[in-house]
Amino acid sequence: MKRIGAHVSAGGGVENAPVNAVGIGADAFALFTKNQRQWVAKALTDDSINLFKGRVKESGLETRYILPHDSYLINLGHPDPEAIAKSRDAFIDEMKRCEQLGLQLLNFHPGSHLNKITVEECLDRVAESINIALGQTSGVTAVIENTAGQGSNIGNRWEHLRYIIDRVDDKSRVGVCIDTCHAFAAGYDLADHYDETFDEFDNIVGFSYLRAFHLNDTKKPLGSRVDRHESIGRGCIGIDFFKRLMADPRFDDMPLILETPDESIWPEEIALLRSFC
Ligand SMILES: [Zn+2]
Ligand SMILES: [Zn+2]
Repeated sequence: MKRIGAHVSAGGGVENAPVNAVGIGADAFALFTKNQRQWVAKALTDDSINLFKGRVKESGLETRYILPHDSYLINLGHPDPEAIAKSRDAFIDEMKRCEQLGLQLLNFHPGSHLNKITVEECLDRVAESINIALGQTSGVTAVIENTAGQGSNIGNRWEHLRYIIDRVDDKSRVGVCIDTCHAFAAGYDLADHYDETFDEFDNIVGFSYLRAFHLNDTKKPLGSRVDRHESIGRGCIGIDFFKRLMADPRFDDMPLILETPDESIWPEEIALLRSFC
């Protein structure tokens, strides 16, 4: 069965996210567990944690279909020793928040080399960051998202994801999330070469590591390396790809999350995607 939702607001507290998810007809959702543009956040209160868990349960949502996203400030491959230490601390805090909320996944963009180190050096740092974080937490899987490869971001090639996974000690707690907009922008032709793209993904990364999707169309053409999300069926990927993906049983039972720009049509987008199942 397909589990579909969106990255909903946790404004006013994480406990509001499940309510917002149910409101758009979702049975999966993503959220930030803290303000994504600030380094330091107040600890989650017991009230907030209990309300969150209670509302998830009441609404019939399952925690394995909830995909928290980390702060945009974090760069786990940062070339600078002090800056990477700050990122690692913040990432561990994010993992601990997931633990507190009873969640199993934490989705993040791997990092950026900032033109100061090589891609490989950056990937090595990301893997080390993941090992450190997994060593200090339990029960939460680090879910690496592929990127568009914009600027000095790494993670735009399946090989980058594989390289990181190969260097993570606990393979049971590392996985990947495919963002369809990012993949297309990175040069993977999901629209005209569906089978080849996913075969290549399976050969290099492996479906056993696939934990989630971000379902986004894109405003920018194939290989542009520019990250601009578009509503489903209105961009360069087009509706036929999403029809096919929704009918593909390999992608059952994992969170499929919209990060499309027009929140007002999320209920329609979810209903449309469901109609293809
Ligand atoms: Zn994404
Ligand atoms: Zn994006």
